[in-house]
Amino acid sequence: MAEVPEVEIIVRDLRQAVVGRHFTEAEVLSPAVVRFPSPPDFIEALRGRTVTGAHRRAKFILLPLDDGRTLAIHFMLWGDLKLLPQGSERAPSTLVVFSLEGGEELHLTDTLGYARVAVGPASEVALRLKLEELGPEALDDTFTPEVLARQLRRRRSPLKTVLLNQRVLAGLGNRDADESLWQAGLDPRRLASSLTREEGVRLHRAIRAVLEEGLRLRGTQKDLFGVQGQAKHRRNVFGRTGAPCPRCTTPVSHLRIGGRNTHWCATCQPESGAPSEPAQASLL
Ligand SMILES: [Zn+2]
Repeated sequence: MAEVPEVEIIVRDLRQAVVGRHFTEAEVLSPAVVRFPSPPDFIEALRGRTVTGAHRRAKFILLPLDDGRTLAIHFMLWGDLKLLPQGSERAPSTLVVFSLEGGEELHLTDTLGYARVAVGPASEVALRLKLEELGPEALDDTFTPEVLARQLRRRRSPLKTVLLNQRVLAGLGNRDADESLWQAGLDPRRLASSLTREEGVRLHRAIRAVLEEGLRLRGTQKDLFGVQGQAKHRRNVFGRTGAPCPRCTTPVSHLRIGGRNTHWCATCQPESGAPSEPAQASLL
C-alpha cells in the first residue's frame, strides 16, 4: 500500500531519473484516471514538456514542467509508477504510459484503478487539488512537537481520526498512524485534545520514527526501478488483529474508528493514558 514513505521514495527516484528529461508522448489507457483537463488535452499538455522538478505534498506527486504547468499524480491506495525501457510489456493494471526522451517510459499502474493524474498551471493544480488546505508535513524539518500540539489542541475527535485528517497533519496513512500510536503508547480512541504535553512529545517522536524507518527500508513496495523495499506491510500492530503484541504479548485489538481499521495493544496503549512507559513495565 502506498503511504507517504512509499510516495516519498518514488519522488526521490523521479528526481534522480526523470527531472531534466522531456515527455515525447503520453498514452491514457483508462480515461477516468485523468481528473483534469480532458484526456486529449492532458496528452497535448505533456507532449514535449521537460520535467523541472519532483516534489511531494501529502501523497500527491508534483512534477513542475518547463511551461509553468504541473503534472500531479496520486496513487490512492495501490497505485505505482515504474521506469521501464520503451516498448515494455504493459501490465493489465496499466493506466497511463508516459514516454520519455532517451527510450524509457513511466508506467502508472493500479490494480484497483483508483490512481489519478492531472495537469494544469501550478496555481490551478493547487486550488483544485486543495493543496493549500493540507496541514504541516510530518517529514518536514518544520514539523516540531509544538506544531503537533497546536494541530491537536482543539480536536475533540479520536486520535486515530485526527491523525488521518490530512488538513491536520499531512503524512500519515492508516498503517503509519496505527504504528505511531503503538510506539507512543497512546490509545487511538482517546480525544486528540486530551494529550498532555509529554504525550504530544512522545507522539511526535513516534511519528517521525515510523516514517523515517519506512524511508530507510525503502518502503513496502517496489521503487521506480523495480527494486523491492524492505519495510513490511504488517508491522507491530497494523493488520495483526489477535496476534501477540511484540512488546507485551497481549493480543492486538481491532476496531473500526472513523470507518478505518484500527489496531492497538490494550496493555501498551492504555485507555486512561497512564502509565507513560507501559511496555517496559510489563516486561519487568
Ligand atoms: Zn503491548
